[in-house]
Amino acid sequence: MSVEFAFAALSDVGRERTENQDAFGSTSVDGVDFYIVCDGMGGHAGGSTASRLGVSTIEEKLALAKGPVPARLVEALEEANSVIFNKAQRNRELRGMGTTVVVLAADPETGRCWIAHVGDSRIYRLRGSAIEQLTRDHTMVQRLIDDGILEPEAAENHPNANVISRSLGGREAVEVEARVNPIKLESGDVFVLCSDGLHGLVSEQEIARTVCELEPDQAARRLVDRANEEGGPDNITVEIVVVGDRPAPIEEYSIVRPPLGEGAKRRLREREEAEQRAREEALAVTAPLENPDSAAEVQDAVPTEVRAVVAAEPGSGDDESTVRYAPVAIGLLLAALAVALYALVNVARGDAPDESPPADVVESDQH
Ligand code: CA
Repeated sequence: MSVEFAFAALSDVGRERTENQDAFGSTSVDGVDFYIVCDGMGGHAGGSTASRLGVSTIEEKLALAKGPVPARLVEALEEANSVIFNKAQRNRELRGMGTTVVVLAADPETGRCWIAHVGDSRIYRLRGSAIEQLTRDHTMVQRLIDDGILEPEAAENHPNANVISRSLGGREAVEVEARVNPIKLESGDVFVLCSDGLHGLVSEQEIARTVCELEPDQAARRLVDRANEEGGPDNITVEIVVVGDRPAPIEEYSIVRPPLGEGAKRRLREREEAEQRAREEALAVTAPLENPDSAAEVQDAVPTEVRAVVAAEPGSGDDESTVRYAPVAIGLLLAALAVALYALVNVARGDAPDESPPADVVESDQH
């Protein structure tokens, strides 16, 4: 299979920033095309330095690298990480700089492609009626989703939505996420690489429709304009790669998210198993007891989880308000006891016959 690629790229500062800290590039090595988008961060000078250094280092390294494409991608991204990290270490003004990166490597001869990435820039693939997010964001929020703590729908408006957990240059070593197995290209596939200045503002539906309706350069322009219409709070960068014939737009696309990570799958399995156990134990509780009068037997029949829930019911827990008001309650109780005791002593004195000895005498007689 030999396919033609149509390609366009565009980057824009947006409406609120004074500097564009995104960078992009493309290069061809030994017949394989490489498309790159970087989104820099870290201080006044750091962001743009990191993203430009990222693109240039990756292009240089790819030109020299040998071996299978995924290995070349990982090598190039690791090299970019070292170069950015070392420069930041040497220059006080650049301390803490870093950049995201997404790379698409496409081989028109064999009709295969590979991807690698770090951070929250994304690669989408439009195929038929589905737009699929091929990269999983390296963000704190995505981690919460993978851990089953946060629902994907809640992620978009999460306050830490754009706090990334990995970057090129942020640390001495970086874990690059790369696909070892190639993705087979089909005529009509459209790949979209972009920074979060686009995917945070323009929906996947609209991205899919736009790249089908317009030629790549016009589509890139339209998408950047749309992000700016939505406020353009961040730099916006988009690269569009159309494989063979551009597909016709359709009314509604399905959106495919990255599959759950292994950790998330395991947790999901564990949660399902725990729920199943709880259901079985709850059924066991309703089974007739041999001796219904035995409190111990009733207690044993209640599953541990249920007992824990009962123990944690409101009012019985050690939550903050209970702890805070406990001294007041004890004080009131002691005061009430003192009043009661006082009243009791008075009543005892008033009602007792005159000849009965004082309380302390009775006390001493018992010894
Ligand atoms: Ca950004």
